[in-house]
Amino acid sequence: MAKRKEIQPADVLLGKYEIRRLLGRGTFAKVYEARSLADNSTVAIKILNKPDLISNNIATRILDEVSAMRRLNDHPNIVKLHEVLATRSKIYLVMEYASGGELLSYLARRGRLPEPTAARYFHQILSALRFCHAHGVVHRDVKPQNLLLDCNGNIKISDFGLSALPEHRREDGLLVTACGTPAYAAPEITRRRPYDGARADAWSCGVILYVLLAGYLPFDDSNLTEMYRRIHRRDYRFPSWFSPAAKRIISRLLDPNPETRITIDAVTELSWFRRANSLGDSLIHFSDVLQPEAVMPMPAPRAFNAFDIISQSAGLDLSRLFDEEGKGRRERERRFTSTATPEAVVGRIEEVGRKLGFVFERRKEGGGTKGGGRWGAVMTVEVGVVAPAMLLVMMKVEGGSWKEEGKRVGGVCWEELKTELGDLVYAWH
Ligand code: ADP
Ligand code: MG
Repeated sequence: MAKRKEIQPADVLLGKYEIRRLLGRGTFAKVYEARSLADNSTVAIKILNKPDLISNNIATRILDEVSAMRRLNDHPNIVKLHEVLATRSKIYLVMEYASGGELLSYLARRGRLPEPTAARYFHQILSALRFCHAHGVVHRDVKPQNLLLDCNGNIKISDFGLSALPEHRREDGLLVTACGTPAYAAPEITRRRPYDGARADAWSCGVILYVLLAGYLPFDDSNLTEMYRRIHRRDYRFPSWFSPAAKRIISRLLDPNPETRITIDAVTELSWFRRANSLGDSLIHFSDVLQPEAVMPMPAPRAFNAFDIISQSAGLDLSRLFDEEGKGRRERERRFTSTATPEAVVGRIEEVGRKLGFVFERRKEGGGTKGGGRWGAVMTVEVGVVAPAMLLVMMKVEGGSWKEEGKRVGGVCWEELKTELGDLVYAWH
C-alpha cells in the first residue's frame, strides 16, 4: 500500500494556505494552523481523509458537521467555517483559528478558576448552546476539549458532527458505547433510548461548571458502572469553596432525571447567571442571536403523540397480539431512531432505494417519502419527532414478493439496508 504523504510545515495546500503547525488531532481528523496566502490571516484547517471516512461509514457525519457549522456561522462563541475544499482523497474544513487553544489546557495550567471567570465562560457556553438548539443542532459532546479560546479569551465551541458517532473511540483506545465522553455525557444517553438532546447538553454544562470551579471532575470515569451508580445516587461532593448559588445550579443540572433537570433556558433566568452575565466583559444579548431561520428544506416532520410512541415502542409491540398480522409486519416493516436530520435520513434511504430500482416522491406532509419499485413494490418512509433531535423512522414495503432466500421483500433486503444506513441509525426497534 502506498504510504500517505504526511503534511509538513511550509506545505502549501491547494495554492491557498500555507501550513504552519499541527494544532491537534481528533478521531478522524488532524487540525493545522495555516496562513491564508490571500490575506495573510491565520486559519485552522481540519483535514479529513476521504477513504477513512468512507470505510468508517461516517461520510455523512462530516456533511452533517459542515451543515451544522454553516447554520451556526454567526455566533461569537462558535468557531466559524470559512470554506470547505476537497480533493479526490481529502476534505479540508477551513475554520476560524482559536489561538487560545483548549479550555482544558488553560484549566490545567491555571488550576481551578475563580467564580467570576468560570461564570463568564459558562455564560458564553450557554449562549452558544442556546443558539445551537434554536437552530436544530444538538452538540452532544460538550466537554472542555471541544471548548476553545480565541485571542481575547472568549469561548469558541468546536467539533460538531463526529461527536455524535454511536461508537466513539477515545484517544486511550477505550470504546465508549453511545455518544459523547462518559464523564460529560448525560446518563440517559448511555441507555440507548431516545433522549432529548438539549437536556443532555444541559447535563454536560453542569459537569463543565463543576470542572471549571473545582479543577477536577465530579464523577470519576475509570469505572463506568460505578460512575453511573454514583450519578444516579447523586453521589458527589462539592469542594468547600463553591458558593451556595453555584452549588444550586450544578445540582439542578446534574439531575439524573432529564424530566426534572433544569433546562439551559431556565438557568439563564437565575440570578447567579444574570449576575455573572453583568460581570462578563462581552455581553451577548440572546434576543440578537436567537433567530432561528428555516433550516430544513423539507416540511417539518409531524410530532408523534403518546399513543403513537407507545404503540411503536419495542417493549409494547401491539402487533404481537395479532400473530399473523404481526408476522407480516416483522417482514415488511422496520423502525429505527436517529439523531440525524430528517433530510439526511430520508436522503440516504432514497439513495439506497434508488439503487434497488425505486423511484421516490417526497410526501407533502410529515416529511417522509414514498417510492415505487419493480414488481409492484411500494416503499413508504415516515419520519416523526419523538424528542427534540430524535427522530423515529418507519419504513414499510408493501406489494412485491417475499423471498425467503436472501430475505428479500419487494426486492429490499433489510440487512443490507441496515449496513447502508450505518451511523444514521441511533437504534433499531
Ligand atoms: P475531532 O472532531 O476529530 O475531535 P476537533 O474538531 O475536536 O476534531 O479538533 C481536534 C483538536 O484540534 C481540538 O481539540 C483542538 O485542540 C484543535 N482545534 C480544532 N479546531 C481548532 C480551531 N478552530 N482553532 C484552534 N485549534 C483547533
Ligand atoms: Mg474533538
